[in-house]
This record gives sequence, C-alpha cells and structure tokens, in this order.
Amino acid sequence: MGNSRTEDAAVQAKLAGHRLRLLKEVFVTPPRQADPGRRARASTPSTPIRPGVLDHAAASVDEIITHTRAEVPRVSPAPRNDSVYQWALDNTRHLDPERQRALDAKIYQQSLEHALMMGDDLAIRRHSCPACGCWGLFWMAATQAAGCVNRHCADKDGRPNTWTLQQLAERHVSAANTARRNAT
Ligand SMILES: [Zn+2]
Repeated sequence: MGNSRTEDAAVQAKLAGHRLRLLKEVFVTPPRQADPGRRARASTPSTPIRPGVLDHAAASVDEIITHTRAEVPRVSPAPRNDSVYQWALDNTRHLDPERQRALDAKIYQQSLEHALMMGDDLAIRRHSCPACGCWGLFWMAATQAAGCVNRHCADKDGRPNTWTLQQLAERHVSAANTARRNAT
C-alpha cells in the first residue's frame, strides 16, 4: 500500500514548517537597519521581539523529535529547525495509519500554535464548530481554547462549547482521512 498518509498531511507539515520559520524570522531576528551600510555585528545576540518565541520554537521541535523517536527508535539524526516536520513524516512512513495520524495531528496542532503566536487568529476560523457546524469559532487566549459565537451552542449542562487546539487538530486529521477513504 506504500504511504498511507493523506496528501493533506504533507501539505500541513509544510505549512507548519513555514510558520515556524516565519515565527523565527519575524519575531526573533531584529529587523534590518535602515542604514544598509551598517552591518549587524555577529556577536549581537538576536532578541526575541515577542517573549517566549524562542522557547516555543525549541519546545515544538523537541516535542516532534521525542514523539517520533518514541515511535521509531532508530531514526536518522533530527534537524533542529523547521525541517523537523518533514523529517518526522519521512521516518514514520512504515507505521500503521493510526499512529501516523497521531503524529499528523500533533504537527497540525503545532501549526495552529505557531499561527496564534504570530497573532493569526484566522487559522482558528478555518474550522467549523464541531458541535453546531457553524463557522463562528474564535480564539480565547485566556483559556487557550476556541469558543463558538452561536449562543445556542452549549453542552448538556448549558455551558458554551469550547475546543482545545488538540481537539481541532484531531478532528481535522480524521476528516482528511475520511474524505480520502470516501474518495477511493
Ligand atoms: Zn458551535
């Protein structure tokens, strides 16, 4: 059967890498000086413009490496940058679909985390609400969850439905796999 992954998984891994690279370029490396003749000294450490970006990037890469190594103990040396996602896909091609999907969801979740760190809340709005199906999800930074604008969208105790990034990611990956199964 070869690779059992969806094409979407490869696309999402690429997007996650792109966002991670963007995060570091835009929010860590100082912007170029207005005077092009003045070169930045090599000894000047790059300053994170947004606090926590470097830690976030390092923790994300670590998480993917740890997850992949737990699944496949004998893997090629891991890149500690945005290539880590492609590396993870490459090293897990032989795993059964269930375990591939767990990694795909983790990558998708990280991609959303990168987007939110860049202030890109629109990444959340691309998901329909898992409960009512509307397109009114919005990000609540305080609770680190997505809420639904539909005021009738509540759980059985009457509390507004909210969704974690992990839930949105697992739902996305599972929907992509269902769509592919139905297409073949
Ligand atoms: Zn809803």
